[in-house]
Amino acid sequence: MTTEQYCDILNFTASGGKPDITQIEVLLSPPDAECEQKLFDTALKLKREIFGNLVNLRGLIEFSNICSCDCLYCGIRKSNPKVKRYQMSDEEILHSAKLASDFGYGAVVLQSGERSDRHFTGRVTQLLNKIAELPSPPAVTLSCGEQSLEVYKEWVAAGAKRYLLRIESATEEIFRRIHPESTTFANRKAALLRIREAGFQTGTGVMIGLPGQTLHHLARDIEFFRDMDIDMIGMGPFLPQSDTPMGDAPDDEQTVARRFSWSLRMIAVTRLVLKDVNIASTTALQTIDPENGRERGLLAGANVIMPNVGDISYRRDYQLYNGKPALDENGREIREKLLESLRKIGEVPRWDASGDPPHFARRTNS
Ligand code: SF4
Repeated sequence: MTTEQYCDILNFTASGGKPDITQIEVLLSPPDAECEQKLFDTALKLKREIFGNLVNLRGLIEFSNICSCDCLYCGIRKSNPKVKRYQMSDEEILHSAKLASDFGYGAVVLQSGERSDRHFTGRVTQLLNKIAELPSPPAVTLSCGEQSLEVYKEWVAAGAKRYLLRIESATEEIFRRIHPESTTFANRKAALLRIREAGFQTGTGVMIGLPGQTLHHLARDIEFFRDMDIDMIGMGPFLPQSDTPMGDAPDDEQTVARRFSWSLRMIAVTRLVLKDVNIASTTALQTIDPENGRERGLLAGANVIMPNVGDISYRRDYQLYNGKPALDENGREIREKLLESLRKIGEVPRWDASGDPPHFARRTNS
């Protein structure tokens, strides 16, 4: 692939062309550093044409680490006996939601392990009702795993706007390799369709740099996002967690650098292919590059950051992977650092806004 050929496909995609999977894979494989930078710059330009230099902020509340699943990569999987299980109280969750609102974030993400028992799903409904009664209620994204259509509808009726359920890999063979038999690709995909049917702004995402994963697999992931007409994407590098069956996956400097650079390319190419969706610059990028990781994600075309607003005392017990950053920083400290780092790259927070992806309005109005 020559520089010229690469630039032709980049320009074709940036000007509204619909690349096929081969072309998406090419976009993910710039032939040199100059082309890679051109990819990031083109994606950032498109992001700024659609969203300006604004970044949507969502206060992240990891409200429970109790999970009934056993994903092979995840630090809070049910078979990890080293995890101290917790559930934040309603008061603590509401306090965090109010804090996010006071900080001007305009939106929160309520994230937990997956549970489908009625006690759990009913409690989430009640929490949503209580959040809706706050003086300036933030928009709510839920990330609580696979649920029935009835439960998703109940949560929409109680005020939740968005739902994030990561497919982790759109290649079934890879999906199978990183999940137990009880968690199937077909069920995960069906749950995403239910989320959409229930009326949520629908989010998914993948892990990048899994053992055996190639750029072709990642191209298929982007094709999956497009085929599923997804509104929001949250993806980041695979980071092994030492207490899991995948804890001994390669983690040398070269492998980590590749995961990081592939993650930035995934953000950029996803922006170019999907255009007006929300794309998060995730904490996993910050884990690899604490000083500039999230910022580099934004400069590659992402437009969402999820600063933690949860109670600091639970932070260590919600470690999906090793090296989670900001374990000892409270919500205010995280906010100050974030504002400073956004200033440095010429981006500004979009204060007090729900920050809906234009793609959702477009697909629901058409
Ligand atoms: S990835 Fe999610 S569903 Fe899987 S074990 Fe972790 S918390 Fe549970």
